[in-house]
Amino acid sequence: MQNVAIQNWMQALAGHYERSRTAFAQDDLLILFDIDGTILDSRYMLLYLLQAYDRNHNTGFFSACRITDMSFSVAELEAGLRSLGVPADHFAAIQAWYNRHRWSMAAVLEAHRPFPGVMDVIRWFQLQPHTHVGLNTARPEHLREETLCSLNKLGREYRVQFTSDLLFMREAADSDDVIAAKLAGIEHFRACGYRPFAMVDNQPQILEAVAAHDPGKAILLLHAGTLFQQRPEQMPANAVQGNVYDLTELIPKKAIPRHIQFVWDGVSSEAALTQFLESNIRWADLSVLTDRYMNDQSPDVRHANGPAQSSALLQTCLQQLRQADRGIKVNLGADLACNRSLLRLLQTAGIDSSDLWFHVDMEDLGEAQFRQLAETQPGAIIETPVDFLAPLIGNGGQLAENILDRLCDWGVNRFALDWSTPGVRRLVERLDDWGFTVTIYGVRELQDFLQAVLLMPRAICSDFSYAKWREPHVGKRAVHDIDGAVLRHA
Ligand SMILES: [Mg+2]
Repeated sequence: MQNVAIQNWMQALAGHYERSRTAFAQDDLLILFDIDGTILDSRYMLLYLLQAYDRNHNTGFFSACRITDMSFSVAELEAGLRSLGVPADHFAAIQAWYNRHRWSMAAVLEAHRPFPGVMDVIRWFQLQPHTHVGLNTARPEHLREETLCSLNKLGREYRVQFTSDLLFMREAADSDDVIAAKLAGIEHFRACGYRPFAMVDNQPQILEAVAAHDPGKAILLLHAGTLFQQRPEQMPANAVQGNVYDLTELIPKKAIPRHIQFVWDGVSSEAALTQFLESNIRWADLSVLTDRYMNDQSPDVRHANGPAQSSALLQTCLQQLRQADRGIKVNLGADLACNRSLLRLLQTAGIDSSDLWFHVDMEDLGEAQFRQLAETQPGAIIETPVDFLAPLIGNGGQLAENILDRLCDWGVNRFALDWSTPGVRRLVERLDDWGFTVTIYGVRELQDFLQAVLLMPRAICSDFSYAKWREPHVGKRAVHDIDGAVLRHA
């Protein structure tokens, strides 16, 4: 079978999208997603409904069940119930209960979870020019509002939005012909002027029907093997199967948006400096610590990981960065004398304040120092992390907005959020809605980096040492450029 086990499905999707984009440059391209079992993990709804059955019938068949026990499709409900030890004389009642309630408002709104990564994949395509994401579902038409409401609720933190014009549903609720409905969906979108280039579905028999319907293979067929073993004999030969929505296979380095400011974290050794200068990332975070413990008598600055002599290294570093026209990010601490020492060093090195980025914890400096910094460093980025305000920001109350407004009044012009802060996506969205400028820092893995990119913050700090992006044959070092010279001017 062509490609099936060989090529990663997200890679295949990326390649097919690029070819379609080139071939039909003027067209509105469309990728179609099935909903249940493809975007949403239907096991949650199944478990929800079975446990609701227990509650309503004073039974306890499913009270100890976990999500991993729901490893059967709805079509195999009877066999599934048998495997869970449910007595056979209850099968019909449970099946009837399931049929009656599966599309209830509560089940649709409360029991749905997206598969990991799928919303990111959808967001990626929604961000691409002249590219759209359509939903092609066998859910009946009368569930339009609930479907959009629940999917938009789930998509919100990913900045994904679904609209009614891109949702095709089964016309007649009593029709069991799911395949006819899916084919009608493709034709509907074609009639609306879209060019479908890919379709993701978890049912092989649907993909088989689409393959027969599309002999020219314009539509890449992607089988989401996300739930349980499907019958492989029904899989069309040109379908590509996968079960992980992996952004690192989908998004090529060259496609990273150029308007985000990227900051290389931890340029604190000569080797790191060389790597940084070989890249075309604009900002270097020098991980400078200002403290007194190196020498109790006189304030000094040094690299975070550096040995005692690293003040000299820092000076060399600053000169090279200035010559290369790069931006420099440093931390200021609570020791004002040390901060002054660092600022003098930057001034001596001839660094323009518009090439400077100060990261300052709120607890280290007060209003007067922030105001002074803003006054003496015009054009510099003055950033403070606001993770400690997460509960207030998350609630969306006026208090958080007032605090942030006050900080802006002091001269802070950037708020930073740690990628590991719980609910960080919602926090970024909230700050963005309020009109503040956001940096996401602490991004370690490529997958996280790409997810952060999709949130479109103003800046992302990472160390860019992603194994997948390394080019092993360029000298002995990795080359970590993102793409093109334009980044230099971001
Ligand atoms: Mg499905």
